[in-house]
Amino acid sequence: MDTEERVGAFRAYLKRIDHYNSAVALLHWDKRTYIPRKGVDARSEALGMLASEAHRLTVSDEMKGFLEDLLPLSADLDPITARALEQRKKDFDRSVKIPVERHEEFMVLTSKAEAVWEEARAQSDFSLFAPYLSRIVDMMREFADYWGYERHPYDALLDPYEPGMTVAILDPLFGDFRVRTTELLRRIEAAAPIDSAFLHRRFDPHKQRRFSEYILREMGYDLEAGRLDETAHPFETTIAFGDVRVTTRFVSDFLNSAVFGTIHEGGHALYEQNIADDLRGTLLHRGISMGIHESQSRFWENIVGRSSEFWERYFAPLQEIFPDELGDVDAQRFYRAVNVVGPSHIRVEADELTYNLHIMIRYEIEKGLLQGDIQVRELPGLWREKMREYLGIEPENDTVGVLQDVHWSGGDFGYFPSYALGNMYAAQFTRALERDQPAWREAVRSGRLAEPKEWFVTHVHRHGSMLDPADVLRAATGEELSSSALMEYLTTKYTALYAL
Ligand code: ZN
Ligand code: ZN
Repeated sequence: MDTEERVGAFRAYLKRIDHYNSAVALLHWDKRTYIPRKGVDARSEALGMLASEAHRLTVSDEMKGFLEDLLPLSADLDPITARALEQRKKDFDRSVKIPVERHEEFMVLTSKAEAVWEEARAQSDFSLFAPYLSRIVDMMREFADYWGYERHPYDALLDPYEPGMTVAILDPLFGDFRVRTTELLRRIEAAAPIDSAFLHRRFDPHKQRRFSEYILREMGYDLEAGRLDETAHPFETTIAFGDVRVTTRFVSDFLNSAVFGTIHEGGHALYEQNIADDLRGTLLHRGISMGIHESQSRFWENIVGRSSEFWERYFAPLQEIFPDELGDVDAQRFYRAVNVVGPSHIRVEADELTYNLHIMIRYEIEKGLLQGDIQVRELPGLWREKMREYLGIEPENDTVGVLQDVHWSGGDFGYFPSYALGNMYAAQFTRALERDQPAWREAVRSGRLAEPKEWFVTHVHRHGSMLDPADVLRAATGEELSSSALMEYLTTKYTALYAL
């Protein structure tokens, strides 16, 4: 077979994997939205089987053959095929390093651990979950050794979420940022509080849906290539090319959930909807990393969605939907209310500023567990200590403390930093957007959201997985990762808002 035919066969093979992934994504979406309660067990089984079938294709002898034949020719191949080979090779190497039986043990352990975690959280009893978490941590340490790392075992876990990320990069980045954020928080706490009580009036969920659909359209989300549904935990999922779906949550006595949940997931969706067409079916037609993905959702949710320009334009349409509920509120008051800052216990409900402090706590704990400096039994105490130190409050129980997140029960170590990185990338992108389009905030004020959106399509979205995170950032901004843009943005915003 000549090279051209071999490349054709490789691309066809990638498409096959892509179709499997698509089926898994659709079944999973359905499981989280409309499945009848009694269908959940059978669906979970089907999902488990299909997902492992899809995974098997990525580590098969056939895949190995393609990599052996074509990787040496990469330099002469088209850039998309070359990148697809590189990505498959990375994935292949990582997967085959874990012995099959250890991988299976891990899957069994984590599926049990999630149920135990739920129970422990309901009873606020960390001791139920602790033995499972200890075993998960032991396995994570073992896996890190299999995968290999240069300096810190945690590096091996960071890479799949954020290629190229290491403790050596994160330690100084987060350390400095944390200190400055805490200082800013202390100043805000000493300032006069902002009234946001009206956000807790009763807002009809059906009307909330109307605003959610409206705002997605304004952002440039293509509803003919996606749809909006309702779930307890909002998410975005890419089913296939031309099918990028979002969900949101309608809470009748808190308007923010739907408004900002929708804008957030809409930001993720814009990324997935605007990847270059020629990456279709190559497994490169997806966002490159969790951090870059999160930068897109945070840009829309916070930098645009929580700006005064945005509400100068969009408060009127919101008020039109809720004439009684928001009749006595104006754009400025609304803008201030959706930017209230204060320490709280729950990460997913935290404001734009304190959110990052919640991430820092998890980062330090994960790093310590992997290194062996921290033991699982110490976590509840350590959690309280760090909450007190960073946020100045202590959880009354473990349900709203160390047991609040599902991630550890599934062995998802290394994921948390992406959220804070997303905020940092978003601020850096915004600074570059400002350089290229100095009037972009004016565009937002006039409802021309396509202007910032198109900048992101050009500089971030279209690349899909062709470039690594650091390269996307460098190409778009000319900069290396740094927290200075985010700190500057937060300081400027809250100094004005709270008259510091
Ligand atoms: Zn409804
Ligand atoms: Zn997100």
